[in-house]
Amino acid sequence: MSKDHDHSELSETALRVKALESLLIEKGYVDPAALDELVDTYETKVGPRNGARVVAKAWSDPEYRKWLISDATAAIASLGFAGRQGEHMVAVENTPNVHNMVVCTLCSCYPWPVLGLPPVWYKSAPYRSRAVIDPRGVLAEFGVKIDEDTEVRVWDSTAEIRYLVIPMRPTGSEDMKEDELAALVTRDSMIGTGMALKPGAVGR
Ligand code: FE
Repeated sequence: MSKDHDHSELSETALRVKALESLLIEKGYVDPAALDELVDTYETKVGPRNGARVVAKAWSDPEYRKWLISDATAAIASLGFAGRQGEHMVAVENTPNVHNMVVCTLCSCYPWPVLGLPPVWYKSAPYRSRAVIDPRGVLAEFGVKIDEDTEVRVWDSTAEIRYLVIPMRPTGSEDMKEDELAALVTRDSMIGTGMALKPGAVGR
């Protein structure tokens, strides 16, 4: 099982990174604040912006949407987003009847090329266990209220398959262009623990 989830490799890598980081800080080569900034950039900015472009294209282009749903790996790679931890992608689409959310129950498998680094809560034991047992309760904690009639589907990521949620296109976004639409797509909406922003919620 640990091989499926790259467990040992990840923890060993994490350990080396930690050791290297301590050494660099001790020698005064790097500023810890700058490192935090760098991590934040990859967690919340660069990574998820790739996924947002994929979603915005799927919202705007019906042919691309079909391709994304039938062969996400190829459709995503066509935009230049490919590589490690994104070799076998599956896109799952939210509809008024189905809400999808993604977890890795064993560790922290996550689609790096489209979402960057996983957030701390995604790797936490409570999220990993409760997402499966009580998905609606977890969603409520994220401020996401799902209709009683809407089915919640939970997808367990592995080293084999990484999931990307295609959130529902928000009402009021009908006339928006692809790059404007991308600004509505949050990281959490692509994990399924959030919704896409409403057009008015984005500062211009
Ligand atoms: Fe995992």
